[in-house]
Amino acid sequence: MEDCIFCKIARGDLPCFKIFEDDRVLAFGDINPLSKGHSLVIPKAHAENLWEIPDEDLFAVHRASRRVSSAIKEVLGFAGVACLQLNGREVNQVVMHYHLHLIPRVRGGASLPVCQWEQAGGNMDEIGKISAEIASAVAKQAG
Ligand code: AMP
Ligand code: ZN
Repeated sequence: MEDCIFCKIARGDLPCFKIFEDDRVLAFGDINPLSKGHSLVIPKAHAENLWEIPDEDLFAVHRASRRVSSAIKEVLGFAGVACLQLNGREVNQVVMHYHLHLIPRVRGGASLPVCQWEQAGGNMDEIGKISAEIASAVAKQAG
């Protein structure tokens, strides 16, 4: 897409801190890192989100994320890696080109708000009802 910042990076029209690429995907350093080593993996072909990305690109992105996050662990020493992927402005997606965040945290490092939330027991009736509604919507899908 003409004015998509990640398409420009994928085409080489804008620079990036390249980590890895193959014919389908590109991985590079996030310029507003939540933690040291925060990286992004994108498909080279434009797709806005999880609903648009073709299966082959989805697989290629996640396969590359395993490779890159292994390298992150190697470089940072012991690290856990949170994989975060936002779909839609409602959940704060800012760049509307599919991207998977790889956000490392070394043992004893600063806490990451993205992977810390209060576990509060839910209402089982509500969970049952919404799960059943989603299940019947899944069942109606083709394929
Ligand atoms: P979001 O769409 O909310 O998942 O976040 C977009 C991410 O892209 C943010 O973490 C930005 O820091 C990152 N970002 C935006 N522009 C660039 C760029 N030119 N190079 C690297 N990372 C970028
Ligand atoms: Zn794009």
